[in-house]
Amino acid sequence: MTPVTTFADRKVALFGLGGSGLATAHALIAGGAEVVAWDDGAEGVAKAAGEGIPTADLREADWSEFGALVLAPGVPLTHPEPHWTVRLARDAGVEIIGDIELFCRERRALAPGAPFVAITGTNGKSTTTALIAHVLSQAGRDVQMGGNIGTAILSLAPPDGSRVHVIELSSFQIDLTPSLDPSVGVLMNITPDHLDRHGTMEQYAAIKERLIQGAGLAVVGIDDAPSRAIADRRGEGLVRVHVGTGSVPADGLGAGEGIVRDGAGEELADVTGVGSLRGAHNWQNAAVAVAVARALDVAPEQIRAGLASFPGLPHRMEEVGRRGRVLFVNDSKATNADSTEKALTAFRDIHWILGGKAKDGGIFPLVPYFERVAHAYLIGAASDAFAATLEGAVPYTRCGTLDVAVETAAANAAASGVPEPVVLLSPACASYDQFRNFEVRGDRFRELVKGLPGQGDDR
Ligand code: ADP
Repeated sequence: MTPVTTFADRKVALFGLGGSGLATAHALIAGGAEVVAWDDGAEGVAKAAGEGIPTADLREADWSEFGALVLAPGVPLTHPEPHWTVRLARDAGVEIIGDIELFCRERRALAPGAPFVAITGTNGKSTTTALIAHVLSQAGRDVQMGGNIGTAILSLAPPDGSRVHVIELSSFQIDLTPSLDPSVGVLMNITPDHLDRHGTMEQYAAIKERLIQGAGLAVVGIDDAPSRAIADRRGEGLVRVHVGTGSVPADGLGAGEGIVRDGAGEELADVTGVGSLRGAHNWQNAAVAVAVARALDVAPEQIRAGLASFPGLPHRMEEVGRRGRVLFVNDSKATNADSTEKALTAFRDIHWILGGKAKDGGIFPLVPYFERVAHAYLIGAASDAFAATLEGAVPYTRCGTLDVAVETAAANAAASGVPEPVVLLSPACASYDQFRNFEVRGDRFRELVKGLPGQGDDR
């Protein structure tokens, strides 16, 4: 844990008692603050009280006594409208911050030079955060990974000398971190997302830009217009990352066809054979990880070895096994067509399991990739709609449920004559019609694959 000492002997209001809220309350209390915690849900309040965290309805509190309102990132600060605690804090002139801000202040107090890598972007945050942490820890560094991925930041060990904090940040977290000052700030990409919570695209991009404004070094993916404009405004201390066949930026890195090169054209890494880093989107993730590792003085051979041994994250084009020639891939995190597009471009001879609760637009954007699909297996509520899109273009079977789909796809794939058929769960849908969430759906797929008869490596 990182005890928060910057509010010692002061009163702090804390709202939002999910996992990170509870961790933040404990860290504040451990550092000597007097916490008053609350949540709109009775369950969170009861949980906090059960853990010895003082709770009280903040509507009835005397806000003039509070040094800060610490807000959980899921609580609306601005859109669609400010939460009631936000209004009360503003009326009383109380600053509103989140757990990342508390960490930043603690780092400045304890170990201002301690390496702190902060990663944001619309897509690829978790993969890149995990990849950077993996490369650094394989190189023998003392790494703490968390934030929006896994462990709440204040549950991590404190900043200390050479210990590296590798932290994923959502826009919501950046919004609550006015003095964000990572040693290395990474901005992957910006595409429309969560605009319901950020208003306009301009506001959303401006929040993302804040992550690199206070950074010692900025690593910016320049393959979309908003990110490119942000890179152009940055000036010194910038590594541009470009994926594609165009020329590598002189002050940056490029990743064309899985080979990461510097501005002079020198090859730094080759991830074409790395199963967990398939697809152009993963080349961006790899190039960014190379940029960060270089900035932290990791030796070139250690960077290459770290990339090669990256196990990948569950549910994101995760190889879950082989049966004979057939490869099984769990891409359950792909809850929309955009994400599924990444998987369809990364494989061929695909036995594609899809369906669930459809998003707007369904699978129409995926029509250009249908030639890569050998057969489609439909599950869940979207079956009729998706069958209509597939009709005449891709042979399909209505399977209803995931177990039937896996069995049918595995049999068809095994019977096909191609060298490496792929059974791919990439649903392009939310899971809620049949599963609690995408993780449960992906875990079930993995289980079903493990239960299939036949030879295979049991990864
Ligand atoms: P996030 O944490 O930002 O949600 P993840 O690393 O969990 O991102 O990846 C989620 C999905 O986003 C992946 O399944 C993949 O489809 C897509 N993705 C991953 N990396 C990138 C990238 N660099 N650019 C665009 N899309 C990506």
